[in-house]
This record gives sequence, C-alpha cells and structure tokens, in this order.
Amino acid sequence: MEKLLPRFLEYVAIDTQSDPYSKTTPSTKNQWDLAKKIVLELHQIGMQEVSIDEHAYIMAILPSNIDKKVPTIGFISHMDTSPDFTGKNVKPQVIKDYDGKDIVLNKRKKVVLSPDYFEDLLQYKGQTIITTDGTTLLGADDKAGIAEIITAMEYLVNNPEIKHGDIRIAFTPDEEIGEGAHKFDVKKFGAQWAYTMDGSQIGELEFENFNAASAKITIEGKSVHPGYAKDKMINAIGIANEFLSFLPVTEIPEKTTGMEGFFHVHHIKGEIEKAEIELIIRDHDKEHFEARKELLQDISDKLQKKYGDFIQLEIKDQYKNMREKIEPVFHIVEIAQEAMESLGIEPIIKPIRGGTDGSQLSFMGLPCPNIFAGGHNFHGKYEYVPLESMEKAVMVIVKICELTAIQIK
Ligand SMILES: [Zn+2]
Repeated sequence: MEKLLPRFLEYVAIDTQSDPYSKTTPSTKNQWDLAKKIVLELHQIGMQEVSIDEHAYIMAILPSNIDKKVPTIGFISHMDTSPDFTGKNVKPQVIKDYDGKDIVLNKRKKVVLSPDYFEDLLQYKGQTIITTDGTTLLGADDKAGIAEIITAMEYLVNNPEIKHGDIRIAFTPDEEIGEGAHKFDVKKFGAQWAYTMDGSQIGELEFENFNAASAKITIEGKSVHPGYAKDKMINAIGIANEFLSFLPVTEIPEKTTGMEGFFHVHHIKGEIEKAEIELIIRDHDKEHFEARKELLQDISDKLQKKYGDFIQLEIKDQYKNMREKIEPVFHIVEIAQEAMESLGIEPIIKPIRGGTDGSQLSFMGLPCPNIFAGGHNFHGKYEYVPLESMEKAVMVIVKICELTAIQIK
C-alpha cells in the first residue's frame, strides 16, 4: 500500500488532457506517455498478458489462484483528464494530518480551498489530503482510479492467501470527451462484468445514469431592408428566441437535482439570415427522456407551420441509462455494496447526473457499475483527494475479488 501515493503523484505529473476537437484516438499524444509508463509497471508487478493497442487501450490479467471456476471480473479507469481545465505542470501538495482549516493552494493568486465553501473537507480531518497548487486541476479523476487498481493488483500478487478468479483490468484514453468506450474491445477483455473506478467521494456506488441526447436547431431567415421588411423579412434570431420560449424554464441544470431531468442550451449563434441553437437533453427516466425529444419536435413543427419550411431539427442520442442492463445482474452491485460494508464504508448509492464509460460498456455487453475513486471537485483547481479514501478504494477492489470467488458459483 505504501506505493499508492508515489504512484498517484507520478501519474498526475504527466499531462494527459484530452481534446474534444481531435480526430485521433487517443485524442492527444501525451496520453501515450502515461500509457507507456503504466504498461511497464504492469509488467513489473507481475500482471500477465499485458497489451496495449494502437489506440492506447491497455489490458492485463491477474490469473486465478483458485481451483474452482469463478466468474472473471474486471476493473477499469481512464487515463485522460478533462479538457475544461489545464492539467499541465500539476504540482500536487500533500497535506498530512489535515487540521480542518483553510488550505492555501496558492498564496500569490489567493486561491484557497476552504471548508466554509467545500464543507466535505471536514469529513477528512486528521487525514492526508492531496491538493493542487491552485493553477491546474489535480487529475484524481481518474488517476486515483489507476493508482488504486494497480495497487490492488499488486496487493493480490503479494498476498496469495486471498483467493480470487481471473481478474482483468483496463485503462482507456479519452473518457472525458465521451470516447473512452467506443474502441473498447469487450470480447478481448473477456470479463463477465466490471467496475469503473471513476466515482467521487468515498462510498459512492452508482449503477444508474442519465439518458442523453443532443439537439441542433438550424433556422434559415430572409434579410430585407428593415424599412421595407413588412411581411417579407424572416428574422432567424426572432424565431430562435421563439423556439427557446417554449422550453420549460425550470427544467435546466441550475434548477434541477437528483432524478430531475433537464434541457440545457449551451450554444446560440444568430444573424437575420441564419440562427443555430445547440442543446442537450438529460433524463434518468426513459419515458420522460422520450417526451423531451418529442417536445422539441412539436416546437419545431409548430414553428414550421407558422413560418414555413425554415427550421431544421436534428436530434442525436448520446448514451443511455445503464440501469436496465444492471438490474438483471444486480448481484454485481450487491457484491460491491457488501465489500464496502465489510470494510466499514457506508455505500452511497445515487443516480449519476451524467454518464460514465460504464454506461456505454454496459450496453456493449459488459455490465459496469461505478465505484468511488475518492476525489472531490473534479475538473478544476479545487480538486483534491484524501489518501485514506484511495486506500479504502484499493481494499474495496481486493474485497470484491475475494467475495466474487467465495459467493458466485
Ligand atoms: Zn472520470
């Protein structure tokens, strides 16, 4: 376990920010730097069949040490960090025996991580907290997950009295830009089910996420001299505005929580001749999700009737709620729950207000709930992770391997 922290610190020092505008996989070359390091390390700790493909997907096996046949399970995390905030020159600070007070991340820039604002910090009084220096993100999302999985595998290698079946692990690029699962070879991975180690605070266990779609509305207008425009001009900006006025004003990200879905308009561009609206739709409930898509279609039809054939609506499904794929194999959630409880961790089961690689993988045939990696405040300079949470995550992985071998026939 003593290698967990140095391992994590080495990984975050490597910039692996992904790029949503790139056409390659991985989306950025830097991700290879971490990938190569991980491959080397997997060989060093004694993993078998270590492979890396042309897109930097890493896979490896820890072979079974038990005579009976038990299910093959897997653990997955991602190597990239968010495009939303810089991950270059990450200089982590390790604060031992946290005293529950403000942590000055950067004196010169006056960046302070304060429990007055981030009250979760107080749970970790007395623990070792790893923070940024206030100028970058940390990358605990998801390098904490990588360090935890590798450390858990090392732990199992060094403690052969813990019996387990075949354990498969994988590290993927480009999760943060929604591309982590696309090129994942589920067949080659060969696990019956897996867990992404990509959740936030200690205890998180997630098997439900949003249904997600994106929509683009394009409106063609007709420009005429405003002095002579009566019954002739079609102002695309005005129609765009009218379109938006039909959307429910309270069903937006800043006014919803828990299981409440929303429309989120994130881009508008407009001139008289042409306007564009881009938005995303999110809802855990399948029927509500479909109803949201229908509402957009209805608005579009209504405006078309009023103004003519000037409005185009394009809706694209992005990902689906994995719940329907997890429910039939719910013991995989129960094992994780039991593993946590046996280690004195209270499971926090709640729907994800987003997606994970696991949701895509679940629909590709690899049911894949999500487990905490321990970090907080992802994708920004206030990101931090308590070392003790990471250690617990390591033990959860070990325990799941053990319980699977004992319980499942
Ligand atoms: Zn993540």
